[in-house]
Amino acid sequence: MGIYTRLAPFIPKQSCVLCTERSIFCVCEYCEQSLQVSQHRCRSCAVPLNSDLHFCGACLTHAPLFANAYALYDYSGVCANLIKRFKFDHQLCIGDFFAHKLHEKYLNLVSDQGEYDAIIPLPLSANRLRERGYNQTHELLRVIAKKSNILIDRTSVKRIKLTRALSTLNLEERKIEINNAFSAQAMIYNKVLLVDDVMTTGSSLNELAKTVLKAGAKSCDVLTVARA
Ligand SMILES: [Zn+2]
Ligand SMILES: [Zn+2]
Repeated sequence: MGIYTRLAPFIPKQSCVLCTERSIFCVCEYCEQSLQVSQHRCRSCAVPLNSDLHFCGACLTHAPLFANAYALYDYSGVCANLIKRFKFDHQLCIGDFFAHKLHEKYLNLVSDQGEYDAIIPLPLSANRLRERGYNQTHELLRVIAKKSNILIDRTSVKRIKLTRALSTLNLEERKIEINNAFSAQAMIYNKVLLVDDVMTTGSSLNELAKTVLKAGAKSCDVLTVARA
């Protein structure tokens, strides 16, 4: 491999979508620092906590069905802006930036917690997929798919119910809307990692956890780019 080939990935060739500086990804290292990262989170659902407690009040009264949740960033300010531009304005280079960060996080997780048998991205409904043209979570998993041997299972779970946009609903309405939204083929995984772009109330990921556990998975964790 010649020196130029080896250096090629490190030569800045994009402009940062936030400040227009040349950078390796379309979010430069400087702007990346403006993404908020809470260090102290609920062990169960990853919501940022102000106290020294290990779990949030909601998880203490009613624990989610996934064991642990992990998130890269807080869903606020710059991060929320980037995710919206990726999802709704089709700025795929932002997805590429997040995909690299998700891969780093995944490697840390595996070295701390051990291997997973499979990753299951939160499935979109056929309608939403047609509207958007792609499943954003598949884009976010591109780097993991390319650089690790983990099985990314995109087919065992299907979305079988048309749901309204959950962002317009309150917590109770979300739970009712998402109930029985997925169906899954029988699976023999011990440990599954469920992945989505943003966790807000966790209703969708909890429902997905319910579905994969019923289908035979022994336990599951959750990884998202952002946590509200
Ligand atoms: Zn920048
Ligand atoms: Zn919690």
